[in-house]
Amino acid sequence: MKLHEYQAKEIFAKYGVPVQAGIVITDKSEAAEAVAKIQKDSGAEAVVVKAQIHAGGRGKGGGVKFSPTTAEAIENINAILGMTLITPQTGPQGQLVKKVYITEAVDIQDEYYLAITSDRAKECPVIIASAEGGVEIEEIAKTNPELIAKVWIDERFGIQPFQIRQVVGFLGFTGDTAKQAGKLLSCLYKAYIGTDSTLAEINPLVVTTDGQVSALDAKFSVDDNALYRHKDIAEMRDTAEEDPTEVEAGEYDLSYVNLDGNVGCMVNGAGLAMATMDIIKLKGGEPANFLDVGGGANPTTVKNGFRIILQDPAVKAVLINIFGGIVRCDRIANGVIEALQELDLNVPVVVRLQGTNAEEAKEILANADVDIISAVELDEAAEKVVALATS
Ligand code: GDP
Ligand code: MN
Repeated sequence: MKLHEYQAKEIFAKYGVPVQAGIVITDKSEAAEAVAKIQKDSGAEAVVVKAQIHAGGRGKGGGVKFSPTTAEAIENINAILGMTLITPQTGPQGQLVKKVYITEAVDIQDEYYLAITSDRAKECPVIIASAEGGVEIEEIAKTNPELIAKVWIDERFGIQPFQIRQVVGFLGFTGDTAKQAGKLLSCLYKAYIGTDSTLAEINPLVVTTDGQVSALDAKFSVDDNALYRHKDIAEMRDTAEEDPTEVEAGEYDLSYVNLDGNVGCMVNGAGLAMATMDIIKLKGGEPANFLDVGGGANPTTVKNGFRIILQDPAVKAVLINIFGGIVRCDRIANGVIEALQELDLNVPVVVRLQGTNAEEAKEILANADVDIISAVELDEAAEKVVALATS
């Protein structure tokens, strides 16, 4: 689960990672009061106005504005709140800005990159650091990988003082800023572990002209599977920022991921779903989605699955590939018929049911007054659905 910058900074502050003070608003009428409060607390007129969306690169898209005066701050808030912000990470359709964060401004001397994430290959947390902050780290990784340091942490022992020195030294910190940066990293690691985070990224980490080290930006994700033990973080979920179809699928207990192709897939089991997508590609097609209706697939899940798949206007044909193990194929067949009768389907549907009671299922489908194409082998099913989607 992704968090907004302002939420991430709340967590940072709780764990001792220094951040700028800020106020989040959702309505323009709150602007003046929020700006005045930040100005009063910081003792300076300048503030920064920051769009809160679940995508980075906001600055480039005009979603982060340094505002030296009150008038400019209000003007920037009015411009950003409600805008459709397009950044390199939102895609061309952009993202509607529903929340704006007003923070105290700082004078930046240097910008750095610092992150902790999970190294799946090494199965442990990895610290990623670079003195080339404020820019896209992916670019640096490609062009100048030697400018990025990686330090792997053994979770049994936690982050060690020598590892902190290694990172801080690599970034070129000395004296008091080295001390501050070291403490910040240690707190960031505690936040990462303490919240079951999968990504804690600070870009940029800054040193201000008066020598203060702090997290100017924050990107934070938490492992969905651990949310049950972080009720406070679970409450931070902003479904308005997520793919609405994926949110709805979650409510039906379906695992759904929207993709770019035009062949809708309804499959039970993640492994079979992956195999089905592979074979669709092998036959020259492109899957429109990953959809695992789960082991306990029943007529209702099939119906909900259809609803989800058909919300994607790109879908030109649907392949149902269900293996009847615990769930019997005849029940699925009835579910498919019910769904087809209830929903107004205008795309061809290829159905392949294998396993327990597959024969009965075939008969049910053959005798029903619904328009479907039956297939026995997966190979044949994929060929048929790809042909239908491209015709
Ligand atoms: P992102 O573009 O989504 O990564 O948003 P950031 O929070 O990283 O802000 C983008 C850029 O705005 C930063 O890299 C800074 O250069 C600039 N910026 C943000 N806050 C301040 C500030 O308080 N003072 C100054 N001078 N620049 C800021
Ligand atoms: Mn940033």
